[in-house]
Amino acid sequence: MDDGRNGAPPFWQARTLEEMTPAEWESLCDGCGRCCLVKLEDEDTGRIHLTDVGCTLLDGETCRCRDYAHRQARVPDCVRLTPAEVRRLTWLPPTCAYRLVREGHDLYWWHPLVSGDPDTVHVAGVSVKGRVAASEDEIPLEDLVDHIVTWPGRVPKAARTRPAGVSGTTAQGAARRTPPPVSGRRCAPQARRTTTRVPVGTRR
Ligand code: SF4
Ligand code: SF4
Repeated sequence: MDDGRNGAPPFWQARTLEEMTPAEWESLCDGCGRCCLVKLEDEDTGRIHLTDVGCTLLDGETCRCRDYAHRQARVPDCVRLTPAEVRRLTWLPPTCAYRLVREGHDLYWWHPLVSGDPDTVHVAGVSVKGRVAASEDEIPLEDLVDHIVTWPGRVPKAARTRPAGVSGTTAQGAARRTPPPVSGRRCAPQARRTTTRVPVGTRR
């Protein structure tokens, strides 16, 4: 996996989502856990709202899925991310590496692939660590609206600038780049999965 340490562009700059190998695709997830927060869809407008309630399998401290290998069996509406889903979904957070690459941005300084440290996603305040108010098992569906929050849809201020002393392998920030041409080679990568919930009475 080319992570940019040998002078060549790292794989997330050099390849499109479709061109990445399964290992590259999987490593692109920063482990923030934002996509594993329960979402609500407004039945009138179709707008998706994020909540601070976690999926039943989300660990609010590690920000990881408690049973990633069996997630779709245990949470049937957990969405398997694919390049096509990344292009279709409107609610991926602006910090999500898949969305950043899709939109032609570089990864931020705190992404583990850049910093070399899986903790920087927490240090930067990007992950859901310590911010998950409850598990969906504890909140009745009709009460989920009381948990709608906006922070999962924003880039925290502290996350925008690399602190002094923190190293990285690529240019920091979300600098625009020109996506490379698609070569035609496609893979079937494993990916993070996300879950969508709708309020009572909503039809989809
Ligand atoms: S898929 Fe995106 S939003 Fe979800 S945990 Fe990975 S980087 Fe974060
Ligand atoms: S949304 Fe999917 S990946 Fe995330 S915690 Fe739930 S089952 Fe696991």
